[in-house]
Amino acid sequence: MKAAVFYSPGVIKVEEIQVPRISERELLIRVKACAVCGTDIRIFEGKKTKGITPPAIIGHEIAGTVEEIGDQVTGFEIGDRVAVIPVIPCLRCYYCLKGAENICAHRTAFGYEYGGGFQEFMRVPEAAVRAGNVVPIGNSLSFEEASLVEPLACCYNGNQRSAIRPGDVVLIVGAGPIGLMHLQLARLSGAGRILVSELIAARRDLAASMGADRTIDPRSVDLVSVVMEETNGRGVDASIMAMGAPEIVNDLIKATRKGGIVNLFAGFSGEGETQIHANLLHYNEVILTGTASASRHHFHQAMSLVSSRRIDLLPLISHRFSLSDVHKALQVVKKGEGLKAIVFP
Ligand SMILES: [Zn+2]
Ligand SMILES: [Zn+2]
Repeated sequence: MKAAVFYSPGVIKVEEIQVPRISERELLIRVKACAVCGTDIRIFEGKKTKGITPPAIIGHEIAGTVEEIGDQVTGFEIGDRVAVIPVIPCLRCYYCLKGAENICAHRTAFGYEYGGGFQEFMRVPEAAVRAGNVVPIGNSLSFEEASLVEPLACCYNGNQRSAIRPGDVVLIVGAGPIGLMHLQLARLSGAGRILVSELIAARRDLAASMGADRTIDPRSVDLVSVVMEETNGRGVDASIMAMGAPEIVNDLIKATRKGGIVNLFAGFSGEGETQIHANLLHYNEVILTGTASASRHHFHQAMSLVSSRRIDLLPLISHRFSLSDVHKALQVVKKGEGLKAIVFP
């Protein structure tokens, strides 16, 4: 079978390798679609190394069909259409027991410790089968849409952590696929007004068409001033960073009202080092937090929103590639030329 194997920063080779063998408690998935995540780019460039031991097969936004079923596995039939939850929780650490399995102390994941979606067939280890990481998808959902349930699940987690209430004013910084998912979720949370800051004009237009009440070009106006203008000088209730720009964290804190929440949703390259004006947190009681992947529950909630068409993921897909063209897919995402690129192994 074909697989895109990551060897070292900048080196991914599409090669013929053995189809994974499964044991009696495992599943084999035929990957039908795997979306490229910003995290894949950071891994490819060597800016994220945790959980990656080359040679590795990355890609964690995965949908496909059940190809082979271990003798001891029940509940599946050959050909079942499924999406895969990438994070495999240990189910027994402090965080798992606390209901925060997305930050499991012993988490492993597809596309990291286990082979991911940039290959034709993917082995699902016993722990993942048992934890319910393989989720059926309805017939109305295409594989490419189903592959995007994973990033939406992460955004769902981030949306919950931002505690948006009906009538709230929300600032989303970055209108890439993640920002646009947050925009749709904030609307569903009943946000009264949603402001979106984005450098690229085409993305601002898309945000406006998806319900942003005001789009902001931070190169032509001062972001914090515009937000203050829009909120009677108070600041937004919640601001969500949907791009990895550590240098503007202070702007988000300044744009948020006293007691509001700043959610650093997107991952940063390296350590993401930046200086924070600590007195902004001290005097304004602003809550500064982040969001790390998603739990199985978040995934099911996201699946429900997509299946019911409350959230539309199709406009977020801009590029489609075969597995042989995985490099092109990575480049397109890296350059921010489109939105989501899907690889079809
Ligand atoms: Zn991702
Ligand atoms: Zn755990």
